[in-house]
Amino acid sequence: MKDITKNDTSHVIKPNKGSEHPSSTDRHRTLIKVQGIEQSFKVGEETVEVLHNSSFTIEEKTFNIIYGPSGSGKSTLLNVLSAIQPPTRGRVEIAGFDIYKYKPEQLAYFRGSQIGVVYQQNYWVSSLNVIENVALPLYFLGKKKQEAHRLAMDALQRIDMAPFAKKSPLLLSGGEQQRIAMARAIVADPMLIIADEPTGSLDTKNGDMIMALLQSYNRDLKRTVVLVTHNMEYLPLADRLIKINDGVCQEMQNDDVGHTTKNLIKDLGDRIDKLAESKRNG
Ligand code: ADP
Ligand code: MG
Repeated sequence: MKDITKNDTSHVIKPNKGSEHPSSTDRHRTLIKVQGIEQSFKVGEETVEVLHNSSFTIEEKTFNIIYGPSGSGKSTLLNVLSAIQPPTRGRVEIAGFDIYKYKPEQLAYFRGSQIGVVYQQNYWVSSLNVIENVALPLYFLGKKKQEAHRLAMDALQRIDMAPFAKKSPLLLSGGEQQRIAMARAIVADPMLIIADEPTGSLDTKNGDMIMALLQSYNRDLKRTVVLVTHNMEYLPLADRLIKINDGVCQEMQNDDVGHTTKNLIKDLGDRIDKLAESKRNG
């Protein structure tokens, strides 16, 4: 696995006190079990089928990358995994619980306490400063302001962003905002981070920095990461690749990752060559 954390500790998430999850001692325990999920949406009179009969598992403490072309259903799948959108059919078990059997308030608590989410674009409450935005998820978990701010400051310190606490997130650069989004995602110390193209609007340097933080969250703190990325360079970071095409998911076995990555990059190269050739030929 490529190591982008090497020689630079600012890309490492520092552990907080008592950060080992008691259930996470066995590397190969199944954390997420997706069984026969389908997702369709009603659009006017029509039904759009986005995910088709997909099943796969995600092991605890692993770094997982979902890849596939634009419009193939990646964000829809992540919403299902993040306890945001129940699938039309099938089930999603996380840590042994069929999550969509939870009552809405139980599901909201589960999501808030166990899943951290990072998106390509950040949604900030513009009237709140950085620390207040980072603390926000904790209010939904019932934490009091003082405790929430202490934990938010911890999260900012863990990613070296404490000096930004009192600034407005809107005044920060894209890379800084995405680091703050990482702090918000880890503030409740979740077992799972789900990231939907978190480097999509960043330059290479800032993109690498966010990937390094995600990698550190997985490696150093032994949490599970599920990530969608368009950036082929990052595919070798994965323990497991899940390919999605037209709403159908396919798991790549761990030892296939290197091989699959090579093939994908070769395919992409061939496609670009063909495009260039057809352009030359008018
Ligand atoms: P990706 O993230 O891979 O680019 P998405 O999951 O965002 O793909 O979308 C996959 C397909 O599902 C797209 O054609 C999109 O228009 C459609 N889709 C997603 N969400 C909805 C929705 N709420 N209603 C109707 N169509 C949707
Ligand atoms: Mg998407």
